[in-house]
Amino acid sequence: YADIPVEVELPRHLASLPEEMKPVTQFAGLKCGRVLSRNLNFAGFSVPTPVQGHSVPMAIGGLDVISVAQTGSGKTLAFMLPILYRLLGAGPPERGGYGGRTAVVVIQGLVLAPTRELASQIYDESRKFACRTGLRICVAYGGTPFGEQMRELERGCEILVATPGRLDDMYQRQRITLSQVKFLV
Ligand code: ADP
Ligand code: MG
Repeated sequence: YADIPVEVELPRHLASLPEEMKPVTQFAGLKCGRVLSRNLNFAGFSVPTPVQGHSVPMAIGGLDVISVAQTGSGKTLAFMLPILYRLLGAGPPERGGYGGRTAVVVIQGLVLAPTRELASQIYDESRKFACRTGLRICVAYGGTPFGEQMRELERGCEILVATPGRLDDMYQRQRITLSQVKFLV
């Protein structure tokens, strides 16, 4: 992937990238905090792919980012790492506590995927990096029992990876709220 040319277009209000948003070539050079750095190590990730090296510092810096890169180029981490970083910076997750089955689950990050297969790939890949952060990632897709998925969400769900159909189902039944969503992928 390192040989593939990278094009970067900045938003109009930025003439050049601030130092902290410049691309990184090593995860070690990325200031993403102790827990996330350790999870990167555990996952065996040391060299960012181009889409990661370019997108992550910008997104951590607070820019909205559109990234286009080929399959297998590491887009999952490219969007998930900044979301985890920002949610961790916002302090420990606040959860409803005793609500249980009648509680509405408050989601802060929403990742939409077109198919069950993609949703589950994103979920599996992302969980490595949420490990020991206190943040929970859940997945929602159709063709599998609604109740079982919902019970996972009820244990806390900061980031939901979902296909539109099951998401809409959870939303229409008022089991989740999107009113606190700060991050959309
Ligand atoms: P995409 O979403 O762009 O198709 P993925 O995020 O699914 O790509 O990543 C493809 C594979 O490459 C995954 O198995 C992932 O664990 C691995 N991977 C991604 N980034 C890195 C990296 N920087 N170093 C090592 N492996 C990586
Ligand atoms: Mg992929």
